[in-house]
Amino acid sequence: MATENNALNLSQGFPEFPVSQELIDLVYRNMQIGHNQYAPMPGLPILREAIAGKIQHIGGVAINADSEITVTVGAAEAIFSSIMALVGKGDEVIVLEPAYDCYIPAIELAGATPVPIPLNQPDFSPNWQLIRESITSNTKMLMINYPHNPSGAILKPEDIVELKQLLEDYPELMLLSDEVYEHIIFDGKEHLSVLKDVFLASRSVVVYSFGKTFHATGWKIGYVVAPEAIMHEIRKVHQYNCFTVNTPTQFAIAEYLQNENNYLSLNDMYEKKRDFFANAVSASKFKVVPSYGTYFQILSYDEVSDLPDMEFAEKLTREYGLASIPVSAFYSNKKDDHLLRFCFAKGEDTLQKAADILCRI
Ligand code: PMP
Ligand code: GLN
Repeated sequence: MATENNALNLSQGFPEFPVSQELIDLVYRNMQIGHNQYAPMPGLPILREAIAGKIQHIGGVAINADSEITVTVGAAEAIFSSIMALVGKGDEVIVLEPAYDCYIPAIELAGATPVPIPLNQPDFSPNWQLIRESITSNTKMLMINYPHNPSGAILKPEDIVELKQLLEDYPELMLLSDEVYEHIIFDGKEHLSVLKDVFLASRSVVVYSFGKTFHATGWKIGYVVAPEAIMHEIRKVHQYNCFTVNTPTQFAIAEYLQNENNYLSLNDMYEKKRDFFANAVSASKFKVVPSYGTYFQILSYDEVSDLPDMEFAEKLTREYGLASIPVSAFYSNKKDDHLLRFCFAKGEDTLQKAADILCRI
């Protein structure tokens, strides 16, 4: 619809700015020197070593690169292969909503039952009491996603305490933690990865995306980290799903990861964009819902219109030339709180133009 209406597109989450020339050169050089055939099924050993090194470098637990990491076709394949491998008919999977759109279809394709549980409002934190109340003898997995798409909420230390207690109380429960926005977190806060705790890491499947971290969503490369016995099962699906991931990009990223600035600089860069956009829309009737991470900003349009969010997002695209995502799209019951999600992984020009449109409404 954004294309049809020649609208400014802040809907789908993807950066507008280029991939670093150094990383592009690394991919090119690896193609030129002949790294163009199949990589090993779990991913190149040097990339898996580089990933394990990075996890430890940023305060994570020791991960065995050989048996506990698999390189995947983006985080989406990591999520799909993990769910296919780990749950099936009769199993229930708790999904916290609003939730990224690929979780529930994957659970359903695996034959399992999704159990959607709303996050707390207005801060999009997990409602630990509701989560506990929804656990049955069939509950196999809990999925979490922080920094959170679409809200930009992040985990707090008290959530980690709750999470540990929950997994201790339910020894059969597995956690799938989607941490694709691990390097986009603001205000000096630290991303509380489940891989920073030995006990949580021993019970978790954790997924990541180089697409988010290196502004290359079209490269579709990510990875999954899980304890050896679980990874053994995930790899059985990965092997027949896609077998392996493109080779030159793996070589290039293995080298690029050696410089911590290549991923640690994202926080500041995106924090400036968040602040720029929030500041530019502050003169409008749209209200900023605080974003603490990710490249998404939710705006409430309560003071602007009574339309349902889907209709309002369509009107904004068609009549005002600005595309966003209605937050009800992230709920299985289409819960409508009059919220829209805007992606601020854009240049200041684009963000200013978007804010100017919002200020005119
Ligand atoms: N999880 C979340 C929360 C996302 O926002 C995305 C981005 N599309 C993904 C997973 C999938 O990542 P990838 O593009 O690496 O498959
Ligand atoms: N993660 C991106 C988003 O939330 C989109 C990826 C997709 O369109 N499947 O906008």
